Amino acid sequence: MTEIEKERVHEEEHLVFEGMDISGHWNRMFEQRVIWEHDVSALDRVTEIPGAESLAYCYQCGKCTPACPVDHVGDFSPRKIYRRTQLGADLLTSPDLWLCTTCGNCLRVCPKEVNLLKIMPAVREQAVATGNVPPELQKAFENTFQYGNPMGEPARKRADWVADAGAPVAVLSREPRPVDVLFFVECYWAYHPRGRDAARAFARTMEVLGVDWGILGAEEKCSCDSQRAAGERGLFEMVAEQNIATLERYEFTRLVTPDPHAYNSFRNEYPKLGGVYDVSHYTQFLAPLMGQLPWARELPYRVTFHDPCYLGRHNGEYDAPREMIRQIPGLEFVEMFRCKENGYCCGGGGGGMWLDSFSGNHTNERLSERRVREAVETGAEMLVVCCPYEVSRFEDAVKSTGNEGKLLVRDVIELVDEALH
Ligand code: SF4
Ligand code: SF4
Repeated sequence: MTEIEKERVHEEEHLVFEGMDISGHWNRMFEQRVIWEHDVSALDRVTEIPGAESLAYCYQCGKCTPACPVDHVGDFSPRKIYRRTQLGADLLTSPDLWLCTTCGNCLRVCPKEVNLLKIMPAVREQAVATGNVPPELQKAFENTFQYGNPMGEPARKRADWVADAGAPVAVLSREPRPVDVLFFVECYWAYHPRGRDAARAFARTMEVLGVDWGILGAEEKCSCDSQRAAGERGLFEMVAEQNIATLERYEFTRLVTPDPHAYNSFRNEYPKLGGVYDVSHYTQFLAPLMGQLPWARELPYRVTFHDPCYLGRHNGEYDAPREMIRQIPGLEFVEMFRCKENGYCCGGGGGGMWLDSFSGNHTNERLSERRVREAVETGAEMLVVCCPYEVSRFEDAVKSTGNEGKLLVRDVIELVDEALH
């Protein structure tokens, strides 16, 4: 049988065929084009990390770039991370590794499910293992390890806010007893002065409602969800196991927390370590009880509301805080144009709470400042929040953007308390 030799496709610069000049660019579809002319080992090194595989799925559609809050104040998105890494940049030593707040907005729009909520913690874990961590974040990790909270406050002061709450608060580590609600206060309500204002308002509201509740006091430690997202999985697991062991010693029906990050960890991460609870965010617990509150006054404020990423996008709760705002008498409510599923990020998630200086050096503006300007644009005189990170972040941003006197920042529970007294 005669071997038929395949005709090789070749390119002519000038060709006249049957009297017709058909010179022009050859259709290169006839031959395989060489598109991988650069070394992609930097990308391979990332996508081989367990948890970071989905970065390889990116097909550069660009949908994530306008959705990413960091790109609004800088030059950053999953598409850009992929491309830079594909071209040889080392993500493990790049500032890009620490700019993502794990807000989840890119995952919401990505057709390929490139999952930064898994990629970032996994790649950061490798960076943490080699000691390549911004110093301010490293300090928060060390504080958490040593004191059980990222601020480095002594455990014995964790329940100090109770003394002038203006309502009785059962501190179960001092006087153990069964309670209906075990309230997991978390670090920023326990220690930060503005967080303590909210904790006291919560205590007074619980007294009005007649709820049987208590707190762990000095035995409570940080839930560590943000440390996990920032790459310290080992620290997260160690402290989570301590919290689970502590909670096992107490009798309670349900767990309630004001912190969306703690809520996320109790709902989605602690069960993997054996800690299974009936857990609610405090807005979910209080929203159905608002009709029972004996209001004393109307509050004549025009307010807007910021959705916490870890309550909204991560856990699907958008209604409970809005229901609370709706029931507080007198408030006029206006939404920001970026809200609910497309809510903007305050910059505090994924370790961002402890990376303000670092992020400030790699962006044009803090996310909290951008968000404050959006709140002011609505014409609201008050920005209402329901995450312990946010009151201090936004109050700082009100000052740094020159909006003092134009915008107040209040936790929703502070408004409930104000309308009750
Ligand atoms: S949306 Fe997804 S696939 Fe599209 S560029 Fe972004 S990460 Fe890549
Ligand atoms: S999780 Fe948020 S901050 Fe991180 S890349 Fe996605 S959109 Fe940007």
